[in-house]
Amino acid sequence: MARKRKLLLLGGTGEALRLARELDGHGRVECISSLAGRTGDPVLPPGRVRVGGFGGVPGLTTFLINEAIDLVLDATHPFAAQMANNAYRACAETSIPRAKLVRPPWAPSPGDRWTMMPSVTAAAIFLRFHPAQRIFLTLGRQEIGAFVPLGQAIADGAARNGGAKWFLSRMIDPPDDGGVPLPPGELVLGRGPFAPEAEKELMQKHGIDLLVTKNSGGAAGKIAAAAELRLPVLMIERPPLPPGEVLDSVGAALAWININAV
Ligand code: NAP
Repeated sequence: MARKRKLLLLGGTGEALRLARELDGHGRVECISSLAGRTGDPVLPPGRVRVGGFGGVPGLTTFLINEAIDLVLDATHPFAAQMANNAYRACAETSIPRAKLVRPPWAPSPGDRWTMMPSVTAAAIFLRFHPAQRIFLTLGRQEIGAFVPLGQAIADGAARNGGAKWFLSRMIDPPDDGGVPLPPGELVLGRGPFAPEAEKELMQKHGIDLLVTKNSGGAAGKIAAAAELRLPVLMIERPPLPPGEVLDSVGAALAWININAV
């Protein structure tokens, strides 16, 4: 019997998890899932799983060669630009077929009050001059630091930002002790997806008047809730993707794997 084709599935998303489940028991493909190890209690996919960085492009290239990987499916988050670029470069060097699975971004509907932001830092600067006072931040632990100086500027008495700002920060795991300080306000922990009704309730309970979010795409109660409450949204735009094939659904990724695993 022919050797199964070895697939490295770069994960950390719901799509990667669904794909690993679909590939479990596949007759021609052996899937190795890779997680960065960022969350403390990740939902583990079936099959072989490895956790932690590879050590940049050289480390990933060595892994691909040592493991005799035949295919790479990059199903990391649309904002995981470093990993996406590393995968592109390591696969180019080893001539291993690679594709990027990325869910479609959200698009504004008529009446939505979105302002597009090129980065988290740009959103924090923009907010300085915006009158919103109670802000819902749905960003990762590493990214909220950009909003801390905003709180300090307020403490110093800067009036141009319309008074003291307060932040409801939501993330999956709490920030490490001694790590990035939180912006002034409240912290809620939780892993999505969150239903629109629950999101609306949370925003109303805290008197939120502006949402900051990355354009992650996928199921998102917060987007529907913000639209219903007519809240302004600072929408952080996605980083550019590396060159190569882009797939926009788990079904398309499965088809790509089946075609390439011959
Ligand atoms: P990143 O900035 O692109 O990656 C930073 C480094 O983390 C990479 O260079 C790599 O380290 C390691 N890494 C990232 N994804 C990995 C994977 N699947 N397997 C092994 N190593 C990985 O990515 P990030 O924004 O920190 O995201 C890390 C993980 O969280 C990704 O798997 C992503 O899908 C998931 N995630 C990210 C976001 C987000 O908004 N960025 C949101 C939800 C989930 P080495 O260079 O040492 O190989």
